[in-house]
Amino acid sequence: MLCLCGSKQNENACCKPIVEGSRVANVPEQLMRSRFYSYAVKNVDYLCNTYASAQKVANLKAEVSAWCQQTQWLKLVIHNAKNISREEFMQRSLNAQPSTLPTVTFTAFFIVDDMYCQMSEKSRFTVEDNQWRYESGDIIEQVEIEKLTRNSQCPCESGKKYKRCCMI
Ligand SMILES: [Zn+2]
Ligand SMILES: [Zn+2]
Repeated sequence: MLCLCGSKQNENACCKPIVEGSRVANVPEQLMRSRFYSYAVKNVDYLCNTYASAQKVANLKAEVSAWCQQTQWLKLVIHNAKNISREEFMQRSLNAQPSTLPTVTFTAFFIVDDMYCQMSEKSRFTVEDNQWRYESGDIIEQVEIEKLTRNSQCPCESGKKYKRCCMI
């Protein structure tokens, strides 16, 4: 199966082993893709585990879980990624200040409350315990593309009606 992150690779050579814990993300873009994949398959634990410690608030799991229930994630487009290895990051101590953290700029397409939306964000990543973690992000733009009805063409491009496809 092609990976849900849109890489055009097989999921077994892309996000699936990272989310399942048999491989680690070597660069920020891999962590970004694996987190999108986790939103798509609603893997709440992986999403919570890949937040930086500063983001791990008490009710994080409940919040992530609720957000996963409400949304259907359809597509990810990566525009720009400052990909460096974990080793290089540690050597350069880039985590000295947030403005030097490596970033990934992306647009994600999703459905929430029957509204087909797109959101663009610049995310920052850091390394903790030798693993890439999502540190924070700035939303660049959020657009409501289309209010879907039961008989709308599903925006996931399956060719099916929304009610027979991605409607929650
Ligand atoms: Zn992937
Ligand atoms: Zn669909």
